[in-house]
Amino acid sequence: MDNSETDKQQAALIEQGRLLFAKECQFVAGAATWDRLPDLPLNEVAFAGRSNVGKSSLINALTNRNTLARTSNTPGRTQQINFFDLGGRLYLVDLPGHGYAKVSKTKVAAWTQLVNDYLKGRPKLRRVCLLVDARHGLKDVDRDIMTMLDVAAVNYQIILTKVDKTKQSELNALIKKTESELKKRPAAHPHIFQTSSLKGIGVEELRAELATLAEPA
Ligand code: GDP
Repeated sequence: MDNSETDKQQAALIEQGRLLFAKECQFVAGAATWDRLPDLPLNEVAFAGRSNVGKSSLINALTNRNTLARTSNTPGRTQQINFFDLGGRLYLVDLPGHGYAKVSKTKVAAWTQLVNDYLKGRPKLRRVCLLVDARHGLKDVDRDIMTMLDVAAVNYQIILTKVDKTKQSELNALIKKTESELKKRPAAHPHIFQTSSLKGIGVEELRAELATLAEPA
């Protein structure tokens, strides 16, 4: 295939992503315990990441909204899994942030149980986007969730956030290092996305990727 053909295909995928994310996106359910996890008919894509990684900002950038993911950050609702219906074709699932510096062991245990129950009981879960701050790279709390995903056999992909804050040379080194770590991970997707919600970098490419996981239009 020549370059122009590849470019055309990429442009078509970008358009698919744009169309999907131009649709309405609405909060449908929140669950703080496994027995409240909703039974939903469509494919799902979940977003995970350490607190403050930029998860709400990225979900809002993807959906062109300023407030969609804010609910998950209001006090008291942080330990909840939130489900958003995107145009009747895909659920975006906002997992509670992991790795708060000062949370109690009981809270970590509750988080682990809820997320594990979610990961193990979702036949329509197509992918988990694991958000990682481009300045910091993978941390042990990220590796813990990667192990949970490998064990649950749920496909996941690393999405670097806040790439506007790093130099391209540092970013390239981080990507190389992370790629070699991913090779040892059975459920990891090999491609790493680079995004900045602030500058809009990588947002339309990520929309295009997620559109390939949605129900047919
Ligand atoms: P969450 O806790 O993972 O939902 O993180 P937020 O989306 O609330 O973002 C945490 C902080 O990082 C906020 O101060 C954001 O303004 C900032 N932030 C998020 N995305 C970006 C980005 O792409 N670039 C920069 N420079 N800052 C960002």
